[in-house]
Amino acid sequence: MTFADLGLIDPLLRALAALDYQTPSPVQAAAIPAVLKGRDLMAAAQTGTGKTAGFALPLLQRLSLEGPPVASNAVRALVLVPTRELAEQVHESFRSYGQNLPLRSYAVYGGVSINPQMMKLRKGIDVLVATPGRLLDLYRQNAVKFGQLQALVLDEADRMLDLGFSRELDELFCALPKKRQTLLFSATFSEAIRSLAGELLRDPLSVEVSPRNAAAKSVEQWLVPVDKKRKSELFLHLLRRQRWEQVLVFVKTRKGVDQLVEELQAAGFSADAIHGDKPQPARLRALQRFKAGEVRILVATDVAARGLDIDDLPQVVNFDLPIVAEDYVHRIGRTGRAGASGEAISLVCADEVQLLAAIEALIRQTLRRHEEAGFEPEHRVPQTDASGQVLKKPKKPKKPKDPVAGKAGARLGSWVDSEKPKVKAVRKAPAFGRKPGGKGA
Ligand code: AMP
Repeated sequence: MTFADLGLIDPLLRALAALDYQTPSPVQAAAIPAVLKGRDLMAAAQTGTGKTAGFALPLLQRLSLEGPPVASNAVRALVLVPTRELAEQVHESFRSYGQNLPLRSYAVYGGVSINPQMMKLRKGIDVLVATPGRLLDLYRQNAVKFGQLQALVLDEADRMLDLGFSRELDELFCALPKKRQTLLFSATFSEAIRSLAGELLRDPLSVEVSPRNAAAKSVEQWLVPVDKKRKSELFLHLLRRQRWEQVLVFVKTRKGVDQLVEELQAAGFSADAIHGDKPQPARLRALQRFKAGEVRILVATDVAARGLDIDDLPQVVNFDLPIVAEDYVHRIGRTGRAGASGEAISLVCADEVQLLAAIEALIRQTLRRHEEAGFEPEHRVPQTDASGQVLKKPKKPKKPKDPVAGKAGARLGSWVDSEKPKVKAVRKAPAFGRKPGGKGA
């Protein structure tokens, strides 16, 4: 099947050819014809499945063929996303897919000055990508009007609810015209998402791209048991020994992210951080430098890294295991994307055994253990299996003997990051055709 078979117009086909997209991914093959026909959609698909093009392409087509030109402060299609980074990324996708169409797109999110956004909206925007909080601010200040709205997309709807945006969403939905096309994308379908879908969608087409909670098969995963206080040392050791080119590292807290970046830089590695305390321009700059290969190690918290589109990343390291098991699947979804292969390595200490058990139960496999010589832990990590059980209870961690170890323990042991996400489930990202070396949007 080709994109032309799906009924896309020439300007879009030319943009896709320039991006070297050859075959529609499964979610695109299902979503594009339905959205072109004007149907509502409820799609179970996570980042990495090609879902963005699944909604962006048909919406761009409809906007370019139907409806009056956009009026001042008006918006014709609205895409709601949970995070700033995802907003930028989705906007960038609209820009590249729509490069041959005379449509205006823009992204608004918090953490940056609102005035330039208000100015930009004055002319009217065909496709507005927004995080709910900032959009509501803009709406309350009359900077954006929804009278012309034809389509609404909720991207990563489960994540928006997890992040506590439901009040903002309810207020926004009340302001939108009832007659419109609505597309809802979510990795999980909890009761809350189902009721949201029931409220918002009209006779939706349901699309599910792959089985629930299966980690991407192209990713090789294993763990290294280690004492908590020696994680940084082990990470530096692995970094040197394994000759990793580029690594995305997940750390539980913002403070932990900064400390690891400092340690890496002190050891002479180029490293940068992405977390919620960093101003938005600094986060985007860090991501761009990492994508461009100028930074070798990007250290991130879960929420900040959610939805990052980093092509062909070979290495993900879980410096800390995620508190919520489903985030493990999201994290390792950064690698092995679009058919590429990757490695995901977790540094696991005894305190994290319950988190490990939950992850193994979710992905229905026991992670292979690899003890690194010289780093065998004093506090053994009890055996686990895919049943979610810890086979032997962990010993109570002893009080650290030296003050340095005590400090390290405190740094990593307590949750201080308000970005803590809640439960969600995910699906495997299937491989789909693209020439090696082809660049994504
Ligand atoms: P998404 O799931 O929308 O975040 O997309 C994941 C990645 O796949 C992005 O880098 C896209 O540019 C890329 N992509 C999306 N659709 C295709 C396609 N049909 N062929 C090749 N790459 C694609």
